[in-house]
Amino acid sequence: MYLLALEEKLFDLPKKDIDNIIREFEPLIFKFFPNWSKINFDAFYSTKPIYKGLESKDLQKIFSSKDLLDTLEKDNSLLIVIDFQTRNSYRKKPIIGSIYSYINLSFNLSLFRILKSTIIENKLTGVGSFKDIKPFIEESIYKRILEEFTKLTLQTSLAHELSHWLDDINHKNHIEIAIKKYNRGDTDTLYNAKFIDTHYMEINAQIHALQDLKQRIGNSKWNKINIFQAIYRIPTLNALYRYLKSLEDNSEKKWLHSILKRLAREKILGKNMNTVPADDSLLTENYFSIGTEYNYIENKFN
Ligand SMILES: [Zn+2]
Repeated sequence: MYLLALEEKLFDLPKKDIDNIIREFEPLIFKFFPNWSKINFDAFYSTKPIYKGLESKDLQKIFSSKDLLDTLEKDNSLLIVIDFQTRNSYRKKPIIGSIYSYINLSFNLSLFRILKSTIIENKLTGVGSFKDIKPFIEESIYKRILEEFTKLTLQTSLAHELSHWLDDINHKNHIEIAIKKYNRGDTDTLYNAKFIDTHYMEINAQIHALQDLKQRIGNSKWNKINIFQAIYRIPTLNALYRYLKSLEDNSEKKWLHSILKRLAREKILGKNMNTVPADDSLLTENYFSIGTEYNYIENKFN
């Protein structure tokens, strides 16, 4: 494991590749969020429990690494499923007849449920804007919803999960092997990490999400924002920060230190990220408890 840590370097994940994948899913996403800017309230009234990505063909696309990433020479097929109500995850899963690596993309489950119940309870119909739900929802939750249901959220999440996939391909399936060991009851695995999300393999993926954000906002903006402003733009990282802070044992400071160290080592630390601002209210002011907003218990990579 430590040898792998020394070998780690960032994968090249061009935003054009990420964008091409997300575009494939837009017909589905637009059923709920037309053009990323509106809400189709009617779509939320479906009585079906929820879309189950693996069972619904229009939610999944199989990509070959050849189509995906020019930089990758090996041929590995990747099944990407978008599922509005589970969580982001990467696994290597046996799919009938073949073996694909498997990425599940999702928005935040708790926020999706809140959005759905707000729409149904207030009998909103037709196509409207996010502002239409504002009168019916707490300000802090409204802000979180605006941050969550965006193209940027899926783009940065996809960068995170693709980096797990490339990590596995390039390091002899070490993630998959660790998951199998763990499932066999072998606890002597990397899952002994206190929290998966602060383990270096997760930090590696989190750095890829930040790298994707940097590509999207451009170098000059990246050099102006501080580390909290960067984390704020990536809802999963924001939720992680809040969770770690809630432990009240400086876990969030240790995690932040690891993130900054890695950004520096990769030479992508923004010019305004050398110091950590004393005030972290940007990340914590919208904190609210919505059940398992961030689920650390499951022992799998997300
Ligand atoms: Zn991950």
